Amino acid sequence: VLVWYESWFFLAAVESQVIPASVSRGDVQTCTTWKAPIIWEGMFEEYLYDEAHKRKRSSVAVTVFAVGKYLEAYLETFLNSSEQHFMLGLPVTYYVFTDKPEKVPHILLGPKRSLKILKVDRHSRWQDISMMRMKSISDIIETEIRHNFTYVFCFDVDQTFAGRFGSEALGDSVALLHAYYYRLPKHMYTYDRNPLSKAYMDTGDFYYHAAVFGGTWKTVKTITDACYESIMADKENNVEALWHDESHLNKYFWMNKPSRLLSPEYCWDESIGHRTDIRVKRLLWAPKDYKNLRINH
Ligand code: UDP
Ligand code: MN
Repeated sequence: VLVWYESWFFLAAVESQVIPASVSRGDVQTCTTWKAPIIWEGMFEEYLYDEAHKRKRSSVAVTVFAVGKYLEAYLETFLNSSEQHFMLGLPVTYYVFTDKPEKVPHILLGPKRSLKILKVDRHSRWQDISMMRMKSISDIIETEIRHNFTYVFCFDVDQTFAGRFGSEALGDSVALLHAYYYRLPKHMYTYDRNPLSKAYMDTGDFYYHAAVFGGTWKTVKTITDACYESIMADKENNVEALWHDESHLNKYFWMNKPSRLLSPEYCWDESIGHRTDIRVKRLLWAPKDYKNLRINH
């Protein structure tokens, strides 16, 4: 009876996108003031989410950009590790955006998984490579993703999956807590503080990391459209937000609360060192090498 009740409860919860906060993690915040769950290891039964999403026929589109030297440096490891850990059991298609389609490595993909390559311009500034992703993501959702997928997840390429990154992460509007800031007081968050920028924030809820965000295709379309519009408005006004697309994303999630937050277990930097609250490392920052990899202007 207990098992029956538990599965019914979780299936119903997943259907309605409302997941109860868990008391199983007393050491961390598991729920926001607006009642969105913050997902930590130990809070959920993996198989219940997986079963519910298989039943709902959920499918996931991944967008990842590998422009310039980032392709050789990171893409193969990102994709191979994703095949080991990301949304196993669900249909997944990778949308790889690059300026050099012919250099995309051949990856052995699991069943129901595929990869599409899209050519993009190599903007001359790395800030624009990063910011203009918003436009490309919006466009591919409009032309392809909306017709074929339930969810979209947008990833930086300079990271490696190291543990399950599964269907518990799926939701209408999904934001990630930045590993550097989740334990710091709000006044230390690096929001854009220039009132002339559209990304300006005086205060906020959390500091979100733009290396991972997602949601239903419709919500991700709205997110990327809003960020792109703000980025372009800033360009017209000759201002640029402190952390580029990340500043605009933080502003968006301040004005439009995410329905689901991922703990820093979902994007951890090993150089932070040991933390008892990080029980599983699901995605890890790859070593940065800005000097050699970024176009420097
Ligand atoms: N990117 C890229 N080529 C570049 C710069 C950025 O492909 O020359 C893409 C890549 O997906 C990268 C993302 O934009 O992960 C964000 O840039 P970066 O990772 O350098 O930003 P950071 O995580 O250091 O803020
Ligand atoms: Mn990155």
